Amino acid sequence: MIRKTRLFTPGPTPLLPAAQFAMAAADIHHRTPEFRALYERVLSQLKIFVGTKNDVLLLASSGTGAMEASVSNLTSPGDRVLVLSAGKFGERWESLAKAFGCQVDLVSVPYGETFSLDAIKQAVRPETRAVFVQATESSTGVRHDIQAIAALLKSTGSDALLIVDAITGLGTTHLDVDGWGVDVIIGGSQKAVMIPPGLAYLSLSDRAWKAAETSKNPRYYFDLRKERKNAQKGESSYTPAVALIAALGAALDYIAAQGGGDLAAGRDALIDNAETCAAMTRAAVKALGLPLFAPTAPSAAATAILSPAGVDSGVIVKELKRRFAAIVTNGQGEMKGKIFRIAHIGLFDYMDTIAIIAALEQVAAASLNLPDFAFGKSLAAAQQVYAERTGQATAAKTSEPEMVHA
Ligand SMILES: *Cc1c(COP(=O)(O)O)cnc(C)c1O
Repeated sequence: MIRKTRLFTPGPTPLLPAAQFAMAAADIHHRTPEFRALYERVLSQLKIFVGTKNDVLLLASSGTGAMEASVSNLTSPGDRVLVLSAGKFGERWESLAKAFGCQVDLVSVPYGETFSLDAIKQAVRPETRAVFVQATESSTGVRHDIQAIAALLKSTGSDALLIVDAITGLGTTHLDVDGWGVDVIIGGSQKAVMIPPGLAYLSLSDRAWKAAETSKNPRYYFDLRKERKNAQKGESSYTPAVALIAALGAALDYIAAQGGGDLAAGRDALIDNAETCAAMTRAAVKALGLPLFAPTAPSAAATAILSPAGVDSGVIVKELKRRFAAIVTNGQGEMKGKIFRIAHIGLFDYMDTIAIIAALEQVAAASLNLPDFAFGKSLAAAQQVYAERTGQATAAKTSEPEMVHA
């Protein structure tokens, strides 16, 4: 049979066709009224997508560039900071903070788990300047409770900045950035917004902007103060990634269309879409007889699944690719060979989710030797979840609006 290549990876994610067309047509110079109009429009759309009253800045870098910018702009060498680490991206926060001379306190939990609030409470000191965390840890498929962590920091009277890598949290998790008191929130282009890698975006609270004024770190390309000044005039400090910004505008238009033209409603629909794809996948995997790697706090960005004992998860990754051209990711670091991950962040719909579950059944039938395996069991579980979550369980109910492919 022929095979269509499909990404099921938590970044890069599948590309929105309308965004690809916008990229191809973006033959404009960046110091022109045409670009300024595009830039101002996209920056104001991003504010709605992120859900903040604060300025959102765009950087021509991968997501890690914005993570680095938040460390270099908001801390000084010798500052005590707290890193909450539960996977490869938490470890990145630790490395970044150390690279900029911070004294790092660490709350770390085993891969696949999230933090206890008690452990965080004990680790926050009066002199803690910043707390770094992921909204969702893409390497393990875990969602952290940002609302609870923000509330905890407030209740301890700490004035540490809360800096959240929401690179796979945005578009998969309902986040009340300003209401909860998140000081920095970071996103990346190759995740929920369905465009290629190369852009990072972030916003800072008033408190965070104050910290940016007093930081003693040298900054040049990632000087957020300069970037904000320019952004307020519809300019970027250096040559922006024009084509990606055009693509981002088209993607945010598409997301708005999912909410009947209301971008905040469209973003919420996108989040609910990811939640439904994730819930279908979890139910399917359990019915198949494979354990979830992060059963207690699963994210809607990606589902991490344990390979059966004695089977390298690379076999499942390879077979899905060889037989169905479906690209899923192996575990990272020590999780390599033990888990595989199926993404739901961005442009994944019901059809994609059913397809990957069906393909996984085929791989299980041929290569996994699972007890009680039968074709259709995991599909039935996913179908049931879909019907329940979308109100289609009884035929009489009226249909809810669904993500519609442009
Ligand atoms: C993808 C991702 C990043 C950023 O990685 P880049 O390769 O620099 O874009 C950071 N944190 C999380 C949680 C991610 O999923």
